[in-house]
Amino acid sequence: MQQTDREYLPGDGEAPWATHVLNGAPALITYIDRHRRFRFVNGTHLRWLGVDPAQMVDRLVDEVVDDWSLQRAGSCLEQALAGEPAVYEGELFGGSARCYMHGNFQPDFDADGQVRGVFTVFIDITERHVLETQLRESEQRFYGAFQHAAIGMALVAPDSRMLRVNGALCQMLGYSEEELLSKSFVELTHEDDLAASHQLSSELAAGGRETYQLEKRYIHRDGHIVHVLLSVSLVRGADGRPQHAVAQIQDISQRKAYEEALFRERELAEVTLRSIGDAVITTDMQHRVTSLNPIAEAMTGWSHGEAVGKPMSEVFKLIDSRTRDPLHNPLLDAIARDAIVELKGDAVLLHRNGFETPIEDSAASIHDHAGSVIGGVLVFHDVSETRALALKMAHLAQHDTLTGLPNRSLLQSRLEQVLAAAQRRQDQAALLHIDIDHFKQINDTFGHAAGDDVLRALAAHLRSHLRNEDTVSRVGGDEFVVLLSHVDGRIGASQLCEKLIRGWQASNASRMGELSIDFSVGISVYPDDAHDAETMLRNADVAMYEVKMQGRSGYRFFVPSMSERPAARLRIEQELRKALRRGELVLHYQPKVEAVSGVIVGAEALLRWLVDGREVYAPDEFIPVAEESGLIVSLGDWVLREACRQAGEWYRAGRPIVVAVNVSAPQFQHAGFHDALQAALQEAQLPPALIELELTERMVMSAGDQSRVLMQRIKDLGVSLALDDFGTGYCSLSYLKYFPIDALKIDRTFVRDIASDPDNAAITDAIIAMAHGLDMTVVAEGVETPEQAGHLRRAGVSLLQGFLFGTAQPADELFRQLAPR
Ligand code: C2E
Ligand code: MG
Ligand code: MG
Repeated sequence: MQQTDREYLPGDGEAPWATHVLNGAPALITYIDRHRRFRFVNGTHLRWLGVDPAQMVDRLVDEVVDDWSLQRAGSCLEQALAGEPAVYEGELFGGSARCYMHGNFQPDFDADGQVRGVFTVFIDITERHVLETQLRESEQRFYGAFQHAAIGMALVAPDSRMLRVNGALCQMLGYSEEELLSKSFVELTHEDDLAASHQLSSELAAGGRETYQLEKRYIHRDGHIVHVLLSVSLVRGADGRPQHAVAQIQDISQRKAYEEALFRERELAEVTLRSIGDAVITTDMQHRVTSLNPIAEAMTGWSHGEAVGKPMSEVFKLIDSRTRDPLHNPLLDAIARDAIVELKGDAVLLHRNGFETPIEDSAASIHDHAGSVIGGVLVFHDVSETRALALKMAHLAQHDTLTGLPNRSLLQSRLEQVLAAAQRRQDQAALLHIDIDHFKQINDTFGHAAGDDVLRALAAHLRSHLRNEDTVSRVGGDEFVVLLSHVDGRIGASQLCEKLIRGWQASNASRMGELSIDFSVGISVYPDDAHDAETMLRNADVAMYEVKMQGRSGYRFFVPSMSERPAARLRIEQELRKALRRGELVLHYQPKVEAVSGVIVGAEALLRWLVDGREVYAPDEFIPVAEESGLIVSLGDWVLREACRQAGEWYRAGRPIVVAVNVSAPQFQHAGFHDALQAALQEAQLPPALIELELTERMVMSAGDQSRVLMQRIKDLGVSLALDDFGTGYCSLSYLKYFPIDALKIDRTFVRDIASDPDNAAITDAIIAMAHGLDMTVVAEGVETPEQAGHLRRAGVSLLQGFLFGTAQPADELFRQLAPR
């Protein structure tokens, strides 16, 4: 070695330097002549391979180079000797010297352009090669993991193009790899999730966050929804700039399905709890209240919010009706013994305000999924006769007596349920508003009994052509509303509608002598035309009107342009404002007579909207509009003052009668109501006892304690209170006793059939008995026949009101009938 080094030491001049560089360069350098003989071999061969260059020079390549290397790189030499530069990259040299080489073969041409030899330069790239191999292997491992991962994966470019997707994702979404790569995530995402998705991915792209997770929905190739949990992380390039994102997509459809099922089950349980006629209280192991259903709220006087967390003994107080001793709460036993405990007999529940209700109850323990006791549930109900009555009334109040179909109030609640369900299931529902054409003519020509027959026949026809889960209701004289809980869009709805119309026209019931009876149908479809119950009803009504305008008979779907022309409501509202100013509103008075003597002792003030002496709109049409627009407050004020003034005038004329004034919910709940009433009484200088306010059950019940306080303050003025339209509302009979009410006005739907329907009569009798039990006067409204009057009189009704005794009439007309007192 020493010797060799010395031999190649550079000296002065160019030649020794060239030799030094050639021999010291970190490359194997040779010159091979065209006879394949080495003519120059640099010193690096000795250092790298332990081969003395002197041993190689002037010898043939084939003699010196091992067979293994020759096999690999030999062809490059041939190529260079043929005049073509060549590059070799790969392993060379056998045994321990084996390394990874990059070699250049460069032909050397003489002046004639003939190859006279080849320069070869080999550099050792073993290290780089190892690194590259490692990199490739790791890349392959990654790709394998990516490709075969059980979870969906994608590499996403900043513009949300997909660079790579794996098999799991392809399978999850139903596309081939190629198809998927041609799509963007935006195309695959459910439209309702686009906004959230976009927001997060742009934050990521802008560098505002490194990762995000999102539950979202993709659309499978076949159209179904795939719920996924998406986790995205940003990958930055060497320059720190966002390069791409790695997305992991986990299919959580099944979990969602479970959640949905669980939710539905819970909802069902809750709905059941809310709607069962029993009161329900649940507690934990320590007997602390965990929930109260609405009936339990009403019966105990504790609201859910107030009661939760309180000891059961504070909320639910039982005494023995005979001894008045406190009774042991069966819930405690049920929890302690892990059993069902029933309590029958003389238990009386004490309301928070001191009222008493006889009850029956039973208690049971509640278990967790492992079967251990975690609390208790107490179920109880009112056993006074009022409850049985309330249940019957609820049915009557929700059904039309003529056809037995649900009425508007039941329709309303079904509609709300159906819309909520359709929204959850992303389903479609439809509402058909059906109105019989020329019904008045039928009634006038053939009589009311014939009219009733037509209504019953149409009801039966509709019912028989619809599925059980669809609701057919009668909402007014000749108006029916059909609620389809599921439809296949407009096409489905129109097919059904045609079936209904054709079927009816083919039936005998659709003809009466010469007259053919038809109906007009307006349709609104959820979710296309409306999202809430009220708009659904209104739009179907608007569409039905359109059919009538176009010459009747047939059906039409709602289109928004229909409601663009001044809708009836809007028109009424505008005109009502003018009418108030112009004094087109007047009060008429309908007499109330003493049942026994027939003497007029009172009158109900009823609003009339008269233009040139003709009624332009009925109160049922314009009062709801006034209530919605807020106009009712000033309108109601005017009614109050006018009624007081009139009552005062009659009083001073020696004909004192009690004038009843209807009050609307928004008017009653308006803060200034009490003051307005007081002012009206003072202004008219009227003994307050000559005014009675007619409130509705709904108004009284909805505001709870607040309305009770207000009612008491009104009573303190000396004004009496009556409950109007009784029996059509909430039916919380036992709750009534908490309110300072003087009179119940039995709704005319009960009076109507009292002489012909024994069931109805029994219920009405029971209401009257109960009202007497509560020390209330009973007034019957809508009395039209002497039979009805006779029955009511015998049942103990004090006052009668109805067409039999007089319609609502101008004040002076009524005055002429009043006896001096
Ligand atoms: P309501 O308070 O139940 O009034 C009784 C309604 O029954 C009146 O209808 C009356 O004309 C009608 N009626 C009376 N006797 C008979 C009968 O024998 N047979 C039949 N079929 N009907 C009878 P009207 O005047 O159309 O009033 C309808 C509703 O409008 C009233 O029902 C009341 O809720 C409301 N209303 C009327 N005036 C006012 C008012 O000044 N303020 C408020 N807030 N509401 C009013
Ligand atoms: Mg009334
Ligand atoms: Mg009434």
